[in-house]
Amino acid sequence: MNNSELPKYFKFDKDEIWFEEFEVEKKTMKITYKLNKILSYCTSKYQEIALIDTNAFGPCLVLDGIMQSTTKDGFIYNEMITHIPMLTHKKPKRALVIGGGDCGAVRELSKYRELDSIDMVELDEVVTRECIKFLPEISGGENFDSRVNFKFGDGVEYVKNVSQKYDVISIDSPDPESYAKDLFGEEFYRNVKKSLNDDGVMVCQSESPMLHMDIINNTREILKDNFNIVRTYVAFVPSYPGGLWSFTIASDVYDPLNLDQNRLPDTTRYITREIAKSCFNLPNFINNLK
Ligand code: SAM
Repeated sequence: MNNSELPKYFKFDKDEIWFEEFEVEKKTMKITYKLNKILSYCTSKYQEIALIDTNAFGPCLVLDGIMQSTTKDGFIYNEMITHIPMLTHKKPKRALVIGGGDCGAVRELSKYRELDSIDMVELDEVVTRECIKFLPEISGGENFDSRVNFKFGDGVEYVKNVSQKYDVISIDSPDPESYAKDLFGEEFYRNVKKSLNDDGVMVCQSESPMLHMDIINNTREILKDNFNIVRTYVAFVPSYPGGLWSFTIASDVYDPLNLDQNRLPDTTRYITREIAKSCFNLPNFINNLK
């Protein structure tokens, strides 16, 4: 493909290539990365998929012009969206990831011997294929744990119809745009609840406290209508707009403030036993949580 056929978020300036990301919803901010190389670019049935090698963050996944996962800091997000719910549930056997096409979340879940099965429902098989090929530091390449089952399809439809119940569900979605919009909606969360065992735990990424407090509050309101216990926790993910990122976790039975940090695998790079506890201590400016 020649450069003029590539999307406008790639900028070619003499012998330099830049990737320009618009902060999605508000479109009032751009983040620009200098590239070593565009590793691959294609259009699937659902979206534009680019794998880029950035100077600052190494190889990264970009969907529809929005940064999703970087080799340098992707582990922070993937650890936070998996280990916190796994430590919150006392005896998890079956886990589900919705989205998560870069495979980083299922890779983290694979660290728990007590899990019998790890399902991943990703809309777009091409994302997973590209990440296996170009993002092995995140996806782990082709060496998947035998308990991982890929089920390619829409997560919204999946939780409407699935009959088996899960102990832990991690919703590893992109921003609430396009096919992912319904992953932030009321009906979806009601069906997630129905797909959990009575003592199940779910977590979703709930966007940036700096830029999307409305999304955090909306998510919390919906979850509070459906679960007894709802808590928000944070981590720094430098490549996400605003830097500070939020996750919201819910259960009818287990309070994440009592999670068992001693079950944390010793192969994490970000989470420590202390962080597993302290991530629920929110900064003062996030003081308008509903
Ligand atoms: N860590 C990333 C972040 O927060 O930006 C998101 C990771 S992951 C790449 C998100 C995945 O969700 C994408 O691969 C996308 O194809 C998938 N996705 C979007 N809508 C979906 C849906 N309705 N059902 C299942 N997967 C979906």
